Amino acid sequence: MTGNNPMSFFSDNVDAWGPLEWFDRLAKAVHARNRSVRDKDDLSFELYQNIASSSATRLVSDFEDKVRMALTTLRELEKANVAYVDANTELLATLESLQRENEDAKRIDPALIGICEEMEESGGHWQPCTGCYDTLEGHPTQKYDYSPALQSPVGCGCHECGGLGAVWWYMSEQDIADFEKISEELDAEHDLTMRISRLEYLLRSLCKAYAACNGEDHPAYVEARTALASTGGAHHAE
Ligand SMILES: [Zn+2]
Repeated sequence: MTGNNPMSFFSDNVDAWGPLEWFDRLAKAVHARNRSVRDKDDLSFELYQNIASSSATRLVSDFEDKVRMALTTLRELEKANVAYVDANTELLATLESLQRENEDAKRIDPALIGICEEMEESGGHWQPCTGCYDTLEGHPTQKYDYSPALQSPVGCGCHECGGLGAVWWYMSEQDIADFEKISEELDAEHDLTMRISRLEYLLRSLCKAYAACNGEDHPAYVEARTALASTGGAHHAE
């Protein structure tokens, strides 16, 4: 330790010293003085006490403003550090809560669980609600959202669909059987209607032909009779 050598406290160019050098000299002198107390060395004590005192005097008389500024800056830095630690703590808390919210958002709505399985097993599906999904000639009249969960485009939501924008479409085996029966009945009804209108047409042709010739040997009359007979409804012609 340089403090052990009293000559190390002196320099040729102390005029170039700043507050740091003077403070360094003061600190070294104080430590050396304390050591001389332990060593019961009264002479050294006196020397280091004088060095410490003169160093402190130079610090105040020549560098008071600089020392004050440095200490004030230090205090500002400490305050800034406290503010930084507070801000950092708050930032971490915000990040944690954002992360929790994100995890909540990723959790699937329990109401949507099992939709895919049900669609696969029952053969049913979700389709856009006719109450809130407008179409014109089979095309949507505006851009509607698509729901990946329901695997269907969805309307804006209304009382018909409970605000979901889609409705469940499902046909049971009974529904399908009923539908087929109705279709067959409709087909049969359609056939009958067609046959009747055909007969009516032929009857009109027959009447026209009969009126035109007043004789059953006219080719048009014969042709009409033949056609009428092929429909199985010849007795209507009488
Ligand atoms: Zn709706």
